[in-house]
Amino acid sequence: MLLRGGRLVDPAAGIDALLDVRLRAGLVREIGPHLAPEPGEETLDAAGAVVAPGFVDMHVHLRDPGFPDKETLATGSRAAARGGFTAVACMPNTEPALDSVEILAGLLRRARDPEVACRIYPIAAMTRGRRGGETLDYAGLAAAGAVAFSDDGSPVADDAIMRAVALRARSTGRRLIAHAEDEDPMVRRDLTLARETATAWHIAHVSTAVSAAAVAEARRTGVDVTCEVTPHHLVFTSELVRERGGGAKVNPPLRGEDDARALRDSVRRGEVDAFATDHAPHTAREKALPFERAAMGFTGLEVAVGAYAYALPDLPLARFVAMLSANPARILGVPGGTLTVGSPADVTVFADRPWTVRSEAFASKGRSTPFDGMRLPRAVVATIVAGSLRYRAEGPVSA
Ligand SMILES: [Zn+2]
Repeated sequence: MLLRGGRLVDPAAGIDALLDVRLRAGLVREIGPHLAPEPGEETLDAAGAVVAPGFVDMHVHLRDPGFPDKETLATGSRAAARGGFTAVACMPNTEPALDSVEILAGLLRRARDPEVACRIYPIAAMTRGRRGGETLDYAGLAAAGAVAFSDDGSPVADDAIMRAVALRARSTGRRLIAHAEDEDPMVRRDLTLARETATAWHIAHVSTAVSAAAVAEARRTGVDVTCEVTPHHLVFTSELVRERGGGAKVNPPLRGEDDARALRDSVRRGEVDAFATDHAPHTAREKALPFERAAMGFTGLEVAVGAYAYALPDLPLARFVAMLSANPARILGVPGGTLTVGSPADVTVFADRPWTVRSEAFASKGRSTPFDGMRLPRAVVATIVAGSLRYRAEGPVSA
């Protein structure tokens, strides 16, 4: 395939220029101005659009195994491709939890089905059954494909167990992901353990000014810690709960405007590493329950590119791309994140073309998003995984 006429933005390679990209046999084969199509080569007109390394969402709940009414690998990966993601890392809060080599192997076997539209990287549990009591064979799990370890929404409460997890998982080189619910105290505890055990850590969905500042300070003083944000914490506040009740329920909860503004400033200052989604699909019935019993979380894959551009319209394009590609790929230690010759042919093409979110048209089974009905300024044009076109938007490339 030949991508013609686009603006190639590859921050890891320091490239921002009008360049064509040739893909062959699953890899980037050639980059240059005005490449001529070769016989039999498929071409994609990217004039007016940005051609970027494939986006990687490092925080997705795919619900496999165990919850096919909420999402499947086919629907979740199709939602990812529509959202411009060529790869997603999936959380272990499944049934059973992703806590053994056999369960990881089963997931990765299903992920090879041709129906699955993007690469799937499992995040394994930190403890047996995510119950916070028993450590696991981290080296074995990493060898089986785990890109990180997390107990997801049930973070390890016992400090001694958490320390044991850190010391045993450290040699894998894979990060521990703190998916804190009671955010500020848990982030503080984990940053202390990261320092004491010299273990690589990642703080998922940072949502408060206090946590963002704590991560930045830890990093300044030598702790190996990275962090991500979600689009909903940058844009919405607890006001939304008053308006929408259970439909606005998410963890960590939506905060005040001061926190949302502080997070946007943290991104601008370069203190946040990755744009994630925390894609958390549920059935419509589970979201419609009264607030106390409503399911927590939003579907995020199909709005992320537009939502982040909406939240941070002034963010330089190279930073925007890095937050979605090079940075999460580096944090997870997975291939991609660049389009230099020889890299995987994972490409996201997007354009500054306004569109209106219509959740009823989502590929995801989850339809609950606070962005529903909003006009967003940036849209995905095409998603290419290992050289195959997995999504192509209808209509012209640019506005
Ligand atoms: Zn999550």
